[in-house]
Amino acid sequence: MGNTIDFSTNPVSFEINERCGLLIIDEVNGFCKVGAGNLAPLKANLQVENMIKETTNLAKLFNDKSMPIALFLDNHEDDRPEHPFPPHCIKGTGEEKIITELEWLIDSDALKIKKDCINGFIGSIDPINNENVFITWIKKHQIKTLIVTGICTDICVLDFVLTCMSAINHQIINPLNKVVVFSEACSTYHMDANDIQRLKLDESMIHDQETYHNIGLKIMQMRGAIITNKIKF
Ligand SMILES: [Zn+2]
Repeated sequence: MGNTIDFSTNPVSFEINERCGLLIIDEVNGFCKVGAGNLAPLKANLQVENMIKETTNLAKLFNDKSMPIALFLDNHEDDRPEHPFPPHCIKGTGEEKIITELEWLIDSDALKIKKDCINGFIGSIDPINNENVFITWIKKHQIKTLIVTGICTDICVLDFVLTCMSAINHQIINPLNKVVVFSEACSTYHMDANDIQRLKLDESMIHDQETYHNIGLKIMQMRGAIITNKIKF
């Protein structure tokens, strides 16, 4: 992205100094494991690998310190397509399973939210009890700062963070007041002209990974989220 927005070059550290929670968005096989499905990487990908490494390290620190962790896990019924995306993370395919590196979290106290839509804030609404279980988790743990990690920076991470900023402004998620996006633990996908041709997709689907990762971060920053590439305790 040239000189305008590149969040990887300048170190911008964030120091945790109040009650803090960690959110991990959609680090499931269907988005992270090479060849695991329609929306999985086609070959080994540095940005995705780095996200997995950084998320795993941070989650271990949170777990060691008994700090709260929440997971969004994309999870679809096979009869309900999610336009404009091809079928992915359908229940029972294995794509919906958390990546091996984070499997240990399934047996931990972490809040697990299965979601069937892009925006995890919406996916956290339990229509039967008319309750947003993510808001309940924030209030239960009195979380003031939320650190966000996951995939894709410009899709599920972006939608969630923008909605969360509105929820803060609307005072429905107190005491949360800071959303911190850990850029090194986020990633998005890459699709170039060759991929488009091979998959017979429209040219508009070309998606440069670095560009859209940085655009996602920039938009979240513009809406008031803090973007950091180093977390300090
Ligand atoms: Zn999905």
